[in-house]
Amino acid sequence: MQSRPTNKTVEAKRERSAGVGRERQEVARFESLVGELSAAMARVPADEVDREIESWLGKICRALDLDRSAVYERDSPDQPVRATHTWVRPNFPPFPKNYDPEKLIQRSTELVMSGKTLVFARPSDIPVENQDTRRFVEKYGPKASAAIPMWAGGRVIGAASFGKFRSPRKWPSELLDQLTMAVRLFSSAIERKQSEIAIRAVRSELRVASRRNVMSELVASLSHEINQPLGAILSNLGGVARLLTQGNPQPAMALEAVNSAIEDTKRTAEIVRRIRSMFKNQVEHKAPIGIGGLIGEVVKLTAGEASVRKIAVQIEVSPSGQRVIGDSIQLQQCVLNLVMNAFDAITEARSPRRDVVIKVAPEKIGWAGVSICDSGGGIDPAVAKRLFEPFVTTKTDGMGLGLLVTRSIVESHGGRIWASPNTDQGTTFTFTLPVAEKKRAVASRRIG
Ligand code: ADP
Repeated sequence: MQSRPTNKTVEAKRERSAGVGRERQEVARFESLVGELSAAMARVPADEVDREIESWLGKICRALDLDRSAVYERDSPDQPVRATHTWVRPNFPPFPKNYDPEKLIQRSTELVMSGKTLVFARPSDIPVENQDTRRFVEKYGPKASAAIPMWAGGRVIGAASFGKFRSPRKWPSELLDQLTMAVRLFSSAIERKQSEIAIRAVRSELRVASRRNVMSELVASLSHEINQPLGAILSNLGGVARLLTQGNPQPAMALEAVNSAIEDTKRTAEIVRRIRSMFKNQVEHKAPIGIGGLIGEVVKLTAGEASVRKIAVQIEVSPSGQRVIGDSIQLQQCVLNLVMNAFDAITEARSPRRDVVIKVAPEKIGWAGVSICDSGGGIDPAVAKRLFEPFVTTKTDGMGLGLLVTRSIVESHGGRIWASPNTDQGTTFTFTLPVAEKKRAVASRRIG
């Protein structure tokens, strides 16, 4: 015999199915919000990523009727986890003062930072062994929470947490999937912002290196210019001092004045000498480096410029994978100068073929050759013989120092640099560098 459903069970069933319907609607609404988030994160410039994330934390909380949320970041596994973005519903408890998740909820932080998602729908769901989180929840009062790790490049770089204070709430798995997707969008935007910051740092380092090299050249010529007259002053003053001692009424005074002039002159010469040695290319930064990797870095740095100018850049490194001896910052500067010149030549020529090929190939034994081949209009005959001289330029906004600096760096590494016209179109600049170790192929050929 089948028992007839009572009013109460019918009511309960109806409520359950209404609840499921509401959950589905919430998931569907949230899914479309995550779609909007995805479009917003793809558009946002690196400088505005932080502001955008904070505003989206608010949108997510309002959409899911939550009260507080935060994004945490950690620069590397041995660095502290810190809250970088937060949102709190107006009139709700803010984050505890000096909030340090690693102290307050150590166990949970460890678990999330190891890649686990932690959720509780009500405080009694928190496992008893997770004492610190239970204590935290008792003291600070969230009734439901979801903490989701933030992955980037195969490691956890932080986490995002979402909490409700007014009542418990369930986290259906579809909703959690969407929330995880939102956190993933945050992490890729943060990753993009961080790589932009890193690229800017390298660029400014290169600018400093470039300035140092320009200064080196300028100081070299300055000291050459100044040392000659200084030598003359020195010998003239010495003569005057000698004259003054012959029948001068106050020889001691004259002598003192002249001697101090001599001292000043010597000091000036010493200053020039010191400035020169300060800006001399420093040998101590030289180390074995993979030139292919270094070129790859420069190509990455100039990728934005290449795409704006619609230029394709190709790298071809010979299989022997050259390792050279050099100062990586200075050599990046060389490649950067030559690549930018190649871009300028192609832009200037309005060439329909728009490509730059950077090749690394063995030169004579013990040397690698790096060549930058462009499809520009070739070198202007008016400057062809003076390319590497200071202030020689055909560009309206050119300084005419790039090739001079490049040559100075290459020569301080013991190498040579030259330009040659391509047979079809454009120019190839080639420079040589000493390789770090003798290639095995050469060694075995000699043995055999
Ligand atoms: P700048 O780029 O400021 O002019 P550089 O010393 O780097 O200074 O270059 C000097 C000149 O050499 C350029 O103005 C240009 O006329 C010429 N030049 C350099 N690279 C190329 C190239 N790849 N193709 C044609 N001309 C070039």
